[in-house]
Amino acid sequence: APAVRFENVHFAYEAERPILHGISLEIPAGKTVAVVGPSGAGKSTLSRLLYRFYDIQQGRITIAGQDIRAVTQQSLRRAIGIVPQDTVLFNDSIAFNIAYGKPNASQEDIEAAARAARIHDFIAAQPKGYATTVGERGLKLSGGEKQRVAIARTLLKNPPILIFDEATSALDSANERAIQAELHQAAAGKTTLVIAHRLSTVVDAHEIIVLDGGRIVERGSHAQLLAQG
Ligand code: ADP
Ligand code: ADP
Repeated sequence: APAVRFENVHFAYEAERPILHGISLEIPAGKTVAVVGPSGAGKSTLSRLLYRFYDIQQGRITIAGQDIRAVTQQSLRRAIGIVPQDTVLFNDSIAFNIAYGKPNASQEDIEAAARAARIHDFIAAQPKGYATTVGERGLKLSGGEKQRVAIARTLLKNPPILIFDEATSALDSANERAIQAELHQAAAGKTTLVIAHRLSTVVDAHEIIVLDGGRIVERGSHAQLLAQG
């Protein structure tokens, strides 16, 4: 699994209004780096730059040593899986939504991804009239259920790099704990960037970066950050 590096990255959506001011960070292969900080700090912007939704104005972003500007959009999207805060699903079957991004997937693989993300558990728990199989249409899923579909999609795609962009921040605390466990499992062995809204959800990250006003104001392990108060 490749390492991700940001080297002195500067970015502005609009000229005259810089959002990120010289960000440098590295995610070693197979490790998780978490980014925390107040709303508006630039956390989501960081994750969008890695996926190349936008191009940076200064600095460099590399994956396994290769500048992402030299990688085709298609291979970049194959290399990176995103679980966003609010997953928007197609009004189609759960299987269709899981296979989105990997249209040639076999039914067996889709079912396996659904089981691994524990989608079968919520389907089994629904009353009749609701979607009762992975193949059924008419999605009416809760926030936690949607996030399980997003996780299953990522497991099926099996990219070496993962981005969790506040993937549990829209959930209630019971759902949050359950989905955190699924995300943790999905991240095993992957190079992972986690945008988190609470330090307690990223205790075992290789490094935690505190972003404020587009600058890194603190960095270290969970224990180090707690010791610094
Ligand atoms: P965070 O994820 O830390 O809450 P964001 O990265 O979403 O922060 O936003 C950082 C700053 O960039 C905010 O001031 C926000 O208003 C601005 N911003 C975000 N997206 C856009 C956009 N598409 N166009 C212009 N400004 C944006
Ligand atoms: P794929 O990896 O299959 O090409 P997309 O590129 O359409 O998928 O989107 C990947 C994920 O990123 C989706 O969950 C989508 O909601 C989210 N996303 C798409 N466009 C943006 C954007 N401009 N900013 C932030 N997130 C986005």
